[in-house]
Amino acid sequence: MANFSINLRKESKISEVDFDNIPFGRVFADHMFIIDYEDGEWKNGRIQPYGDLSLSPALSCMHYGQAIFEGMKAYKSPSNEILLFRPLDNHKRLNRSADRMCMPSLPEDVFMSGLELLLNIDSDWIPQKEGSSLYIRPFMIGTDDYLGVKPSSKYSFIIYFCPVGSYYNQHLRIQIEEKYVRAAAGGVGYAKAAGNYAASMYPASLVQKHGYQQLLWTDAIEHKYIEELGTSNFFALIGDTLITPQLEGTILDGITRDSVIKLAKHLGHRVEEKRFEVAELIEAAKNGSLKEAFATGTAATLAKIETIAFRGTDYNIDVESSVLAEDLANRLDAIKNGHSEDPFGWVHKVEPQAVHSY
Ligand SMILES: *Cc1c(COP(=O)(O)O)cnc(C)c1O
Repeated sequence: MANFSINLRKESKISEVDFDNIPFGRVFADHMFIIDYEDGEWKNGRIQPYGDLSLSPALSCMHYGQAIFEGMKAYKSPSNEILLFRPLDNHKRLNRSADRMCMPSLPEDVFMSGLELLLNIDSDWIPQKEGSSLYIRPFMIGTDDYLGVKPSSKYSFIIYFCPVGSYYNQHLRIQIEEKYVRAAAGGVGYAKAAGNYAASMYPASLVQKHGYQQLLWTDAIEHKYIEELGTSNFFALIGDTLITPQLEGTILDGITRDSVIKLAKHLGHRVEEKRFEVAELIEAAKNGSLKEAFATGTAATLAKIETIAFRGTDYNIDVESSVLAEDLANRLDAIKNGHSEDPFGWVHKVEPQAVHSY
C-alpha cells in the first residue's frame, strides 16, 4: 500500500455538528487527502486537516478548466463496518474523465488507499441515522501557474467528505429543453468535467424562474432524443417497459443508472436502453401509458418526477403510484447500507486500520 504522511487535527470539529439537521454540502469532515502530480509521477500523498488551499492567481484550472470530479457515498452497516458502493467504478470513470481532459490517470491503489485511510480517520463522520450517509468528493485539478493554453504539467488530486442527512426527497418538476445544449457528440458530455456544470447553469436558471427545478436535456443536433438531467440520468416506465437513453458519449455513465438497469432486470422487469425520442415520451404521457419517471444519481439515489413540461404543457405523473421507483430505491439503499443481501458484489467493505500520526 502507498505510504502517506498523516497530520491530524488537534481537536475534532464533530461536536459542533447537529447530525439531525445537516445542511447539504456545507459541513465538512475533519480531514482531507491530497496527492500531487509533478515530473510525471504522483507524490507527496498526505492526510491533513480540512481547510483552505493557497493558490496562485495563474492556476491553470481556474482559467482553462482542467477540473474533474467524482461523487460517491460511504455508509455504516448495522454491524458498524464502513461500506462503499462500487468505488472501483468511480475510479475508472475518474480516469476516463482525466483522459478526455488531457489530465494524468490516477492509479487505482492510490485512489483506494487514500480513500480508505481517510475513511478510517474520519469514520465518526459517517452518519448512523437511517437515510444519512457520508458524501465523498474526489476531484482533480491542473495546478500549473502559467498563463499559456496547454495541458498543465502539475495536478492535485483531493478527497474531502460531507456528512449528508436524510433530507426529504422532493419530487421533481422538469422541463424538456429544445434550445440550449449540455453536450454534443465528440464533446465532453461523458466526462464529469467542471465546465459541463457551469455551462448548464444559465439554461437551468431560466426554467427555475417558472417553477421547474431541472432541465431534461435533448440531443444537440435535432433536440429529438432525450439525454439526461443536469446531474442525474433519466428513466421512464412506459407500459411495462423501463426505458432509459443509451450511452453515446454525450451522457454521463451514471453508476446509479447502471445499478438500476441491472437490479430491474434481475427482478424480472423489461429494460430498454435506446435512443429515446421525446415524441415517444410525450405520446405516452398523453395516452396514459407513461406510468412513472425518475432521475438517478448518487446524491438522491432515485428522485421521482411528477411533472414533465414540453412546449408549454405540463404533463403530470401520479408519483403516489410510482411503485417501481419506490421499490428500486428501497432495494438499492438497502444494498448500499448493508441492510440486505448484495447479489451483485457491489458493496466494498473498508478494512479497519490503526492510524498513527507521523
Ligand atoms: C454524476 C452525474 C450523474 C449520476 O452519476 P452517478 O454515478 O449515478 O452518481 C448523471 N448525470 C450527470 C450529468 C452527472 O454529473
